[in-house]
Amino acid sequence: MRFRNPEKRKTDFREVSLGLTQRQAVEEAGRCLQCKKPRCVAGCPVEIDIPQFISFVKEKDYPGGLKKIREFNMLPAICGRVCPQETQCQGKCILGKKSGPVSIGAIERFVADYAAASGQIELPDMKSPNSHKVAVIGSGPAGLTVAADLAKWGYDITVFEALHEPGGVLTYGIPEFRLPKKIIQREIEFVKNLGVKIRLNFLIGRTQTVEELFDEGYKAIFIGVGAGSPKFMGIPGENLNNVYFASEFLTRVNLMKAHKFPVYDTPVKKAKNVAVIGGGNVAMDSARTALRLGAERVFIVYRRTEKEMPSRHEEVENAKEEGIEFCFLSNPKEILGDEKGRVQALKCDRMALGEPDESGRRRPKRTGEDFILDVEQVIMAIGQTSNPILVRSIKRLKLWGEGYIKIDRDGRTNLKGIFAGGDISTGAATVISAMGAGKRAARAIDDFIMGKKGVSTRETGGGLSKG
Ligand code: FAD
Ligand code: SF4
Repeated sequence: MRFRNPEKRKTDFREVSLGLTQRQAVEEAGRCLQCKKPRCVAGCPVEIDIPQFISFVKEKDYPGGLKKIREFNMLPAICGRVCPQETQCQGKCILGKKSGPVSIGAIERFVADYAAASGQIELPDMKSPNSHKVAVIGSGPAGLTVAADLAKWGYDITVFEALHEPGGVLTYGIPEFRLPKKIIQREIEFVKNLGVKIRLNFLIGRTQTVEELFDEGYKAIFIGVGAGSPKFMGIPGENLNNVYFASEFLTRVNLMKAHKFPVYDTPVKKAKNVAVIGGGNVAMDSARTALRLGAERVFIVYRRTEKEMPSRHEEVENAKEEGIEFCFLSNPKEILGDEKGRVQALKCDRMALGEPDESGRRRPKRTGEDFILDVEQVIMAIGQTSNPILVRSIKRLKLWGEGYIKIDRDGRTNLKGIFAGGDISTGAATVISAMGAGKRAARAIDDFIMGKKGVSTRETGGGLSKG
């Protein structure tokens, strides 16, 4: 994969990775061994027929390759860019042990971008309309996948989205330099071309309730509202000025274009020295965004070591190349402020790794030493949790943990006609796992409405549906 020069790319928001050329894509496709029992397929949460789509690329039939991918995955240009391929499809590739795995994600991205650039985008086979209405709440990857699959099967789909732009985290969370907005718009346009309607600025639970949707004739409802509420550490100083929750910081820039203030009217603090707390994709995105806003030094503060970081490996490498500084085995214990209540420094414990915890990763423990980082901004990227607005508005809906919706394997909740999937049922996860949940829920909704086998076996608790 080709990348832009780090010194240049860290000064703007243009895409960092340039993708494969046509020649590289064909060469890379030629490395695929076309295994009889392909392990890569099992590694992909939506089970794309990877050897088949790659064989189309080998023959330079890119539209054929795209059509094959789209049988399983409606958003290939997005997944090709952001999937953690090293632990999914590519992590299982047999060539990984010898010469390195086939770059499946990069080929997927190439196929989607090539077809879009040459205008060769074909709609999939569609069933004739069946007039059954289904409401999808949330337009992130889970919601878009349910919507697209059901629309293909003839359903009348409306997606309700609280924000003024569709796409969920893809739009408001993942920065332009990793996932350009025009790519998301293109993929959403494709979903709309299947007949899906998207109603924006529509907060279900406030603008309208789930009961009212059933009263309007929706036969089933899918909840894919993600997990966008902030999590803080509970340390002194978190309420000082210039402490941000990562999603707020990223939303200000990605969605509200705060980096172009005052042309756009949302501001964001531009600091010289910034500490970002956390070790996942959200932390990496926040740090690299702060750098692009003009910070001189940006520190990632993470309590374990690089080996345990949950972020995609490629993004850690990109961040390092751009000059992000990593403070491993460091755990914040206080944010220090000045007399005006603004962040002045971050005090951290030095940590060491102990025995593995329930996640299998070695548990960090204090060494008794601490240190101070002089920073004027702190960004908390230690995870997100469920937003209570919608889930609390649905009586008798079964939840687990910090307010996540309890579902069975196929996305059925305990309430008749209500389905859920993605981050709101698993907690913060990945784009492709949300899409996998969307695919399973679409099949379950189809079964439910068409009265197919399996529907009557589930628990039906409150019985909201009029279907
Ligand atoms: P979301 O994408 O969160 O979408 C939910 C949508 O529902 C939102 O648009 C929200 O506005 C809307 N909504 C909420 N409440 C309501 C309501 N009451 N009424 C109407 N609409 C509502 N994953 C990867 O695989 N690779 C990555 O590189 C990666 N990077 C990430 C970077 C960041 C900064 C973040 C925050 C996450 C990242 N993830 C990544 C995780 C991934 O984006 C999520 O797991 C995925 O988007 C979850 O999809 P979803 O459809 O469940 O929810
Ligand atoms: Fe790999 Fe993601 Fe594509 Fe599946 S969707 S083949 S996991 S890049």
